[in-house]
Amino acid sequence: MIKNNKPLSSITQQVALLSEVLNNVGACIFAKDLNGKYLYANDMVLEVFGMPLENVIGKDDSHFFDLSISDQLRNNDKKVLTEGVIVEQEETNYIKATGEVRIYHSVKKPLFDEEKRIIGLCGISTDITEQKRLENLVKKQKDLLNIVLDNVDAHIYMKDNQRTFKYVNSRVAALFGLPVEQVVGKKETDILPEDVAEHFYQSDKKLFETGERQTIDETVIDDEGNEHHYLSVKIPFYPENEDPVLIGFSTEVTELYKLKEQFRKQANTDSLTGLFNRRYFVEHAEREFKRAQRNGKPLTVISIDIDHFKDINDKYGHPVGDEVLVEVSKQLLPNLRSEDVLARIGGEEFAIVLPDTDLQQASHIAERIRHQQDCIRIKGNWQGELNVQVSVGVAIKLDDDSNFDVLFSRADKALYMAKNNGRNQVFCHN
Ligand code: GH3
Ligand code: MG
Ligand code: MG
Repeated sequence: MIKNNKPLSSITQQVALLSEVLNNVGACIFAKDLNGKYLYANDMVLEVFGMPLENVIGKDDSHFFDLSISDQLRNNDKKVLTEGVIVEQEETNYIKATGEVRIYHSVKKPLFDEEKRIIGLCGISTDITEQKRLENLVKKQKDLLNIVLDNVDAHIYMKDNQRTFKYVNSRVAALFGLPVEQVVGKKETDILPEDVAEHFYQSDKKLFETGERQTIDETVIDDEGNEHHYLSVKIPFYPENEDPVLIGFSTEVTELYKLKEQFRKQANTDSLTGLFNRRYFVEHAEREFKRAQRNGKPLTVISIDIDHFKDINDKYGHPVGDEVLVEVSKQLLPNLRSEDVLARIGGEEFAIVLPDTDLQQASHIAERIRHQQDCIRIKGNWQGELNVQVSVGVAIKLDDDSNFDVLFSRADKALYMAKNNGRNQVFCHN
């Protein structure tokens, strides 16, 4: 401290002031001669060396640093002293007094005499050990986090409310067919097909508007045209002084989705013929019945039963009977329009529900079916050919039918009439 308040006129006072300033800069300041011996060191240097000034002046760095571990310091000094250049570098120094390793950001400059000859160097070294430690720690944590995020079985991303990707893990980048660096910083509209980007945006927009977490099913088609299904959870996050962002976790559920579809299909399908089963038929027909009630359009049902099917089983065996059922199904299918639904209702019974079809149209279709089956000869791993005939019942929805069951049982009655009248024929109930 400068203790008097007199004007700083004398050189002594100025040196004292300078020294005071240099000691309070918060960095190590030093000057060395051509042989690397200390000409000056401020208090911070003395603190690091753990020695008073008189033990430092005139000594070189071999007294204070373990130069056998790192000669970075000596090389930098040499460069300044021989080439006369300024060297600005990070130095890792091993301090003898404490055994510590400290990292400095050092700026070293040559000192010149009046004839511009190098007479030594001066330098300022700022201790960045703690800063480096924190940087390393952050880097290590970031690396660790990246390993976790890249290996987790999910697509993880961060987008701001301007639709710019702030982060993507490697799975997201791979899905887009781009390296991570080419995704981060880009807007999703620059990377994704318009419709896909728009699909994402709808739920993103909702998240930013409501601030609420979103859970949604998403479908993406990849480079090769394959469909991928995802279950996505998106959560809002509000970084300080930055635009709000969303963090998304999308887990691929394509396999699960396919399995679900398969189960759904299986539950509605007859395993032998691949046609819809009774369960699906009734459900569907009930919907059609209600629609017909609303729109006032006609609705008809055709019931088909193979004649004397028991005889085929008895004569050729059950497996042949099965083959015949498959063949009959195949022949029935081309008679349908896209809105008609055909199902195997029971053993050798089939039914078709036909929306927007009157009794006359339905009876024509029924007659065509009967005729086709009568004409077909079925061949297989058995002797000869098989010919099946069918009886067909047709019924139309009446205004006072309360539900589909009433209509369906009328079609059954018609079928019974066809059987009773001698089989291989169509009977229409009206
Ligand atoms: P009808 O002309 O009166 O209809 O005589 P039908 O012999 O066709 O009728 P019935 O109801 O007496 O016999 C139907 C037979 O269908 C009895 C049953 O063993 C057979 N059946 C039912 N389901 C299957 C199946 O999945 N495969 C085979 N091969 N036969 C079946
Ligand atoms: Mg039968
Ligand atoms: Mg039957």
